[in-house]
Amino acid sequence: MEETTSVALSKKGLGEVEDNSLLVGFFKENPDLSDELKKFDSDNTISSFIKDNNFKAEKGEVKSVYINKKIKNIALVGLGEKDKFNLDVLSSVIAEISKKLRDSGNKSFSVFLNSFNNGKIKNEDVVEKITLCSLMALYKFTKYKTKDDNGKKINQITLLSNGNFDDEIKYSTIVADAVNKTRDLINSPPNVATPDYVASYAKELAKKSNLKCTVFDEKQIEKMKMECLYSVGKGSVNKPRLAILEYNGGGDKKPVAIVGKGITFDTGGINVKPHPYIINMKDDKGGAVAAIHIIEACSKLKLPINIMVVTPLAENMIDSTAYRPDDVLTAYNKVTVEIKNTDAEGRLVLADGLAYAAEQKPQAIFDIASLTGAARIVLGNVGSPFMSNDPKLSDRLKKASDRSLEKIWELPLWEEYDEDIKGDIADIKNIGNNGDAGTIIGGMFLKHFVDDLPWAHIDIGETVFAKAEKGIIIKGATGASVRLMVEMLREWKS
Ligand SMILES: [Zn+2]
Repeated sequence: MEETTSVALSKKGLGEVEDNSLLVGFFKENPDLSDELKKFDSDNTISSFIKDNNFKAEKGEVKSVYINKKIKNIALVGLGEKDKFNLDVLSSVIAEISKKLRDSGNKSFSVFLNSFNNGKIKNEDVVEKITLCSLMALYKFTKYKTKDDNGKKINQITLLSNGNFDDEIKYSTIVADAVNKTRDLINSPPNVATPDYVASYAKELAKKSNLKCTVFDEKQIEKMKMECLYSVGKGSVNKPRLAILEYNGGGDKKPVAIVGKGITFDTGGINVKPHPYIINMKDDKGGAVAAIHIIEACSKLKLPINIMVVTPLAENMIDSTAYRPDDVLTAYNKVTVEIKNTDAEGRLVLADGLAYAAEQKPQAIFDIASLTGAARIVLGNVGSPFMSNDPKLSDRLKKASDRSLEKIWELPLWEEYDEDIKGDIADIKNIGNNGDAGTIIGGMFLKHFVDDLPWAHIDIGETVFAKAEKGIIIKGATGASVRLMVEMLREWKS
């Protein structure tokens, strides 16, 4: 296993720190040195460099000065206008500079923490975001490369500050690890990461993380009368699994349930996906994989709550045994579903997963699913749409979104949409008549499987996988929903 980057605090003064690079942030209006830096810059190398090189401290601008002290180089980092500086700006600047330093061969760097605050942000938040965003930005998936791409890697990041931020560093390190492990497993190819592989992975993880794990195989799934999950998975030689993870940190409190969609590859089934929509369909397990690492992170953080993760896992393939349009399936809660499109399979496996979770009477249910392509029409890849039948849950998610910087936006579940999925011969059908409001229709369908429990559905259909690199987003799986959910559960009070 690859060694990860570690982040640590140091109370050493600027003159005592030994490192190759030190990051110092500057605001646009006034790229002058603070008193502490002036003292350090007694020979005026840095201040004359700023003048001579016309460093304006524009957002994202970076210039490097060789000073040849215990610290070899100072990276002057532009933070843009002081008034507009916030955690979003901080995160993207830190992400970009971390990658730049790695790619130019640095093994480590230090951060002069005081310079990355305009006085309006809590230092605790600055530490959390610098830690989280550098660790997320430095992610690479190299498992299947036989030749090391260049071996460039940051081993150590040192935050210089007199404050005590060990808890913040620990929190962000755990969350970043959960995000990066989520990325690893989603990026893993479908010929490796089958339903059984993901279930076994969950079992292994549970052993190491003080979690209970139960896995049901295809025979048990059939016996439990989860006909939706069973049918979606039956066209593949890689048979379906249902993995349940439990974390008990909250005594006898009712659990919070998280259900994650786990389609390890989605061909679309008999309604096969055309090129290029079939590419990257290994990402359709993103919800399940995120949920597995969310509960792991909560266990490592020893949060005072109980959590249950339910991951229905299946591969949606084409075969003579595959389920077909016009089939009628009976879900775990006895609701009958008429299949109108075998590519709307995610909501079917979730139907059984949600009904199973609801039966355990949790205090709330969340589901995370790469459910609809229409999510792209709603928000593009900037944020994830979500829906909820409970304003309090919406509120929890929105607050967690503000804190985690992971963007979400609420869509309505208006009764009028119900008409669109009324079944012709069964209770409901799995797609609407003409594809209108596709993301909402996904939510309307799922609503039939949560009884009347407080529930929220997060559609990561577009945010789960990135086609281009930007800031903390690395091409490939993004780890969408992990930061958001761990942040929400961290503040959970039941
Ligand atoms: Zn599909």
